[in-house]
Amino acid sequence: MLIYPDFYLESVREITPDFCKKNKIKGLILDIDNTLIDIDKKMLGGAKEWHDSVRDAGIKTMIVSNTSKQEKASKVANELGIDYINFAKKPAKGGFLKAQKIMGLRESEIASVGDQIFTDVIGANRCKMQSILVKPVDPERDLWYTKWKRPIEAWIIKKYLKNKERQIG
Ligand SMILES: [Mg+2]
Repeated sequence: MLIYPDFYLESVREITPDFCKKNKIKGLILDIDNTLIDIDKKMLGGAKEWHDSVRDAGIKTMIVSNTSKQEKASKVANELGIDYINFAKKPAKGGFLKAQKIMGLRESEIASVGDQIFTDVIGANRCKMQSILVKPVDPERDLWYTKWKRPIEAWIIKKYLKNKERQIG
């Protein structure tokens, strides 16, 4: 299903080298807003250490963000020491495919990580990449153009979790 993620996690910190190995993930495409930083541009606690650990395990990473603010994207990218694509217009495929080309991996070996179904998850699924939905860094506060989508997302996530339960049970 285009709107369902392959995985639904608390935060990027749960994407450990072991998790990647188990799911044959060799590259991660990372969202910025409410995935790595909150609305005040404060980095998620432990994000730098987490990123170092996956990179040390040989996993390629790259930022693909919809933000039009290049300064914001480059600041986060510099802090983590990775490349970035901003103004990606997710769920459009362009940014994902560009990142894939730079990483030099097959689409199935890449997981896109983000806090939004309508951009991060749908975009990844359209590109046949793995999709990892994470909970927003700050669930109480969103950028205005994101906020209105949250009730719809909550409804989809509820259905998704129910579906998954049924599959396991
Ligand atoms: Mg986001």
